[in-house]
Formats: sequence, C-alpha cells, structure tokens
Amino acid sequence: TGSLTRAVLGALAHADSVRRLEVRANADTPQDAARARALGAQGIGLCRTEHMFLGERRSLVEAMILARDDEAREKALAALLPLQREDFTGILKAMDGLPVTIRLLDPPLHEFLPDRTELAVRIASRANPDPHERALLHAVERMHEQNPMLGLRGVRLGLAVPGLMAMQVRAVAEAVIRRLREGGDPRAEIMIPLVATVEELRLARAETERVLAEVAAETGTPLALPIGTMIELPRAALTAGRIAEAADFFSFGTNDLTQTTWGLSRDDAEASFFPLYLNKGVFPASPFETIDQEGVGRLVELAAQAGRGVNPRLETGVCGEHGGDPDSIHFFHRAGLDYVSCSPFRIPAARLEAGRAAVADRTGNSDSR
Ligand code: PEP
Ligand code: MG
Repeated sequence: TGSLTRAVLGALAHADSVRRLEVRANADTPQDAARARALGAQGIGLCRTEHMFLGERRSLVEAMILARDDEAREKALAALLPLQREDFTGILKAMDGLPVTIRLLDPPLHEFLPDRTELAVRIASRANPDPHERALLHAVERMHEQNPMLGLRGVRLGLAVPGLMAMQVRAVAEAVIRRLREGGDPRAEIMIPLVATVEELRLARAETERVLAEVAAETGTPLALPIGTMIELPRAALTAGRIAEAADFFSFGTNDLTQTTWGLSRDDAEASFFPLYLNKGVFPASPFETIDQEGVGRLVELAAQAGRGVNPRLETGVCGEHGGDPDSIHFFHRAGLDYVSCSPFRIPAARLEAGRAAVADRTGNSDSR
C-alpha cells in the first residue's frame, strides 16, 4: 500500500504541476475546511451560510423573518451577529492565507419557517389558543409559497429583510479584523446568491460596501473584500455583461442553473418522471450530475466570455455539484474558467481530472471527454 500511496501522490503532484484550473472546496464548517485543505483544496469556493441558521438558532431566524416590528427583528439580528462572527472566524482560521468565498444567506423558506399545517393543528387543539401562536401562523401563511425554490430566496430575501445582509457582512468583516489581530491572513470574499438583474447586485453591493466601510472606520483597518455573484439563473447568464460591471467574480451555480434552464426540479429529479426519461434516452445523462454542454454549458460559456469582456480581471469558477464531476471538469477547463469548487472528498479526483484536462488540451485530444 505504501507504493500505491506513493503512486497516487506522484499522480497528484504531476496533475498539480500541469493543471490550470484551481480546485477549491464547498465547505461551511472549520472541520470540513480543514479536511478539504488536507486534501489539497486551494480555498473555499462556496461557504453556504444556510446551515448556520438551523438547529438552536432557528427561533432567531423565525423571529428575524417573521418579526412583527423593527425592534423584534433587530433583537434577533443582534443575537445572530456574534454567532455568525464565530462561524466565520473558525472557517477563516482553517483556510488562513487562502480565499474563502462566503455566500450570503440563500434558504428556500420552507426549510426555515415553521410548518403551517402543524401550527394550525396545534392551535386548533387548544382550548385557549395562544395569541402569539396565532400571530405566528398568520405571518407564516402570509409568507407561504407554492414553489419556495423559485421564490423569496437569495438576494431577494437579503433585500427584503432589513438588516439581514448588514448583519452577515458585519459578521464577515469583524471575523476578518479578528483574524488580522490574531496575526492571521484572512482572505474573505462576499458572494451574492440568486441574482437575476444587475440592479439587484448593485443594491446588494452598495449595502455590502456600506457595512465594510462602517467596520473599517470603527476599527481603523481598511477592508477591501472582493464582492461577487452567483450566476445561477438563465437571465443572469444572458445579461452577464451588465452584471460583470458590478462583480469582482462570477461563481456558476450549476445546480440552480440546471434546474431553471431545464425547468426540472432539482429536489424531485430522482423521484419524478425523470428517471423514466433517462431510460428512454431522450435526455442526456443526468444533467444534474454532468454538465449539459449544449444548454447549461452554453450559458456558462457565454456568460464567462461576456463577463470577461467587460471586466478582464473578473474571476470565474463553478460551485455547483458539476464542479466535482470529471467530464464537467474537462468542459470547465475548455471554457477557460479559473476554478472548480466541490465537496471535500472529491478534491483529489478533481485535481487529477483538472490535470488530465490540461494535458488533453495541450495534445489536442479534447474529444476524449
Ligand atoms: C448552485 O445552485 O449550483 C449552488 C452551488 O447553490 P446551491 O446548491 O446552494 O443552491
Ligand atoms: Mg444555488
């Protein structure tokens, strides 16, 4: 096994010496970040912040989103701020010296709000219904969506809930300052999810810059964090030239981009009619696993091209599941992206594949994938 390990390490070292694509990890805990780093990740391409709002913090999130008044919301946000600061400090520490792309909250609301049916049953079963529960049910009813994945998510939620973006950006900024004071080398970047229009990104960017400037003034430390966007809606891809005016980087969210381009629910793909269609051979191999080069892939190519045309320094990467898929990695290499970001356990294979893609490119043997 020793020689096998040596052979694998040799292959990885060779791949690293030839590949042009960087390989980053999707990680949102210090443990995952450390694991990814040990496997050769060159940073975090996607730190999802959704899980940080579950568990014990759920009631704060409910309070924040369903708040009946500003005071209640501000109280919930003030309680969340130090918790988020801790989250980000730990992750920045684990990835010291490497980029960490922190994505602002992007929850489909059905995963965060209380179940309205359960709530209604609970209220109905009480002899003297609690007025607070009733108010909560009313608020939940008001926010109910038939298709939460196509609703109040991402930047839409960030712009809709006053103070939410500011809280998260402040938590990132304060974590950066803390790491600097500890002698670290924090490289945080802020990413705005589910953007459809450049106007959304401009608003989100202005709010992000406002808070960064505020924390910089308070601490006397300049804070120039890159601010970028996910490209995960066809409209964003088609208007990428305009969106690039307000972005330092693009990260392609190929999970949502596949869902919205195909009109296929990513949550139901395995359970619905879809497997039957795969057997018929009228769809390509699952587009959620391997990039669909003719459709979703075209959107990636043209958006990257248009974005770079406007901003030659625009950094481009992929953070959907496709970022760890071998065939897709070859495609992203050819599309000229700067990095792929994938689950920590897929990092070694992604490094190897990125190396193969570079070799195939040089030898003109790009038809192998
Ligand atoms: C994506 O949509 O590809 C993505 C990376 O974001 P998420 O999976 O969190 O929606
Ligand atoms: Mg997404």
